[in-house]
Amino acid sequence: MLRFRPAIERIDGYVPGEQPQDTGWTKLNTNENPYPPSPRVVAAIEEAARGRMNVYPDPLGRKFCQAAASLFGLDPDWILPANGSDENLTIIVRSFADADDLVTFPYPSYILYETLADIQGARHERLLLNDDWSWDFDRIRSTVEQSRIVFVPNPNSPSGNSWSHDTIAQLVPPNGVLVLDEAYGDFPDEPHRAQILQRESGSRIIITRTLSKSYSLAGLRFGFAIAHPDVITGMRKVKDSYNCDTLALAAATAAIEDQDWMLANAAKIRTTRARLTSELRSLGFNAVDSDANFVWTTHPDRSHRELYEALKTRKILVRLMTFPGVLGGGTLDGLRITVGTDAETDRFLEALREIVA
Ligand SMILES: *Cc1c(COP(=O)(O)O)cnc(C)c1O
Repeated sequence: MLRFRPAIERIDGYVPGEQPQDTGWTKLNTNENPYPPSPRVVAAIEEAARGRMNVYPDPLGRKFCQAAASLFGLDPDWILPANGSDENLTIIVRSFADADDLVTFPYPSYILYETLADIQGARHERLLLNDDWSWDFDRIRSTVEQSRIVFVPNPNSPSGNSWSHDTIAQLVPPNGVLVLDEAYGDFPDEPHRAQILQRESGSRIIITRTLSKSYSLAGLRFGFAIAHPDVITGMRKVKDSYNCDTLALAAATAAIEDQDWMLANAAKIRTTRARLTSELRSLGFNAVDSDANFVWTTHPDRSHRELYEALKTRKILVRLMTFPGVLGGGTLDGLRITVGTDAETDRFLEALREIVA
């Protein structure tokens, strides 16, 4: 029997959300944007496809770097494009974590960080959050100080809350790097614009962004990191030479140059998010105030699995999430609901109303 590395034999692997390939679903489970990408993106893909597909793409994606850098008020050598933000997370783990190094992340949070540390064979530890999603710094400080990599999604998933820059600044490890995963950074009332890099010294913070959520391009696979040029230079040694293809680079550049389109969609999502949150509460659910394009909700006495199944029977997919071993030793479970269009949200709320009646 062929054996994998022990680190791989030990793990189950990351399980992504369900992606049904048939139609007819109201899909509110993996935080995709319900609105289409900018028409300029489609035009850019068509133009690139008619161009020089026989030659390799620019290995540094310089045109994209320029477009992203000008949005954030930085020089282009602060940007590293990747085949999805998840690829940059992988590059970061491969760049910084040896077997004895400690990788940490808040919990409950994005589960992939733990999987990436496992694949790398690095040590990892969860930084347990309080049940109101705040940090207990007295308890975690020494763990943060020993970390090589601290991953922090801001806004967090599954909760959707943001932490202030004063809080974030306390999570920079003295001998490592803080990775601020801003997958949802365009959805707060004030979009995050790498302000923390300007405020802090910057070279111990890497910001990661994705075009999957706010730019409606989950199907494209494109993300980018923002970090000090010395950090970007090191990460380039680790990435595949041609990690971003010609079509993706053209599309991503067009997408980021059409800020009006992205911001208009984000504004619609914020409006629907407020309505979804208040309707959930009026149905007797707890719902965390969200800065992202999803809402974390729990019901004081209903089974979340039964709610999830009953919705699924009605072809409505939400994310049932279970987090064993939260602070205090119990298990947290609940439903993470992506903010869809108003029509999708109405369909979801109507079904939920029926189910809990
Ligand atoms: C969606 C998501 C990502 C992944 O983004 P991709 O660019 O699609 O790989 C990374 N981090 C968090 C917290 C996410 O929710």
